[in-house]
Amino acid sequence: MYPNLYIHVPFCRRKCGYCAFYSATGADEKLIDRWLDRIMEQYWAKIAPHTPRTVFVGGGTPTILTEKQLDRLCTALDSTLETTIETNPETMTPGKAAVLRPHITRVSMGVQSFNPEFRKILGRRTDSEAIDAAVKIIRGIPEWQFNIDLIYGIPGQTLDDWRDDLRRAIDCGVNHLSCYSLTLEEGTALAAACGCEQIADDELAADMWQMAGEVLAEAGLMRYEISNYARPGFECRHNNAVWHGEPYLGLGPAASSFDGADRWTETASLTEWLEDKKPEFDHLDARMRRNEIFAFGLRTTAGWKRAQWEDWEGIAADFRQLQLPAELIVIEPDGIRLTDRGLLLWDSVAEACLSM
Ligand code: SF4
Repeated sequence: MYPNLYIHVPFCRRKCGYCAFYSATGADEKLIDRWLDRIMEQYWAKIAPHTPRTVFVGGGTPTILTEKQLDRLCTALDSTLETTIETNPETMTPGKAAVLRPHITRVSMGVQSFNPEFRKILGRRTDSEAIDAAVKIIRGIPEWQFNIDLIYGIPGQTLDDWRDDLRRAIDCGVNHLSCYSLTLEEGTALAAACGCEQIADDELAADMWQMAGEVLAEAGLMRYEISNYARPGFECRHNNAVWHGEPYLGLGPAASSFDGADRWTETASLTEWLEDKKPEFDHLDARMRRNEIFAFGLRTTAGWKRAQWEDWEGIAADFRQLQLPAELIVIEPDGIRLTDRGLLLWDSVAEACLSM
């Protein structure tokens, strides 16, 4: 029984210049049907009839599916707490929203920037009209929680440009925002086209991160994880569960799963996945797994509470022995969390945690 389910929809219309997620372009309806047949088969074999607490349908572009295909997929979207689907402005239509409406609770839309020049640099060909139209469709369903993804640190982007993007997102009526720093991932078109010197330097990226915290807090959206902000009560439950080490099952090519001890990842090839290629297992001993889970939980502003760990004394003692600088961490009698500076330097904190 898995409390959390992730479904990877590995199809996109075009590949964005910065994207390193696994997705195929140019798939026809028949191929998508074959993927869907397999997803449904696995859903019935591995999940049903135990309804997960959370379901997250990511990609790729889930709303590239036709209304008929989405309707079939909806059978696998029942959850007791939260069902999220990712979308892109150009693939969200009133018809698809109507199919999804009774089954999902949350929609997460990739905008990345409201400025067409920056979208062009990122290789996102969405036009502004498509963004406005999708926002209108989503806001027309008031019971849905609404997230927008933004990217900062785009070559040429200033602090004022970034503030403008944040305000435009707030004006869309979101109750959740994800803000990611642009990274040049190996093998992407953007990495090939631009040198590292064109990506925002660390100091500017840190200022943009700081600005996101301030501008969004003023609008009532509080940072609750390094890259995520929400109105209180609108935090993403699926991601929160994953960051805090709950088991989850991932279906679809390139999807990862965790059963509480082992983690495995499906092949990042649709063809091989359809041929049932075995996933790759990531074997870690219990201590390393414990350390990894602890490090991931520290991505959240709440960090860890004593009640969340069976052996709190053991992990807290090991963590204290790392003697991390006081400016990075807050150790309280009932929990451990990172300061703002610690969140910004999470990579280094995580590396230290893995050595506990
Ligand atoms: S960023 Fe999203 S829409 Fe663009 S290629 Fe990657 S998965 Fe597809």
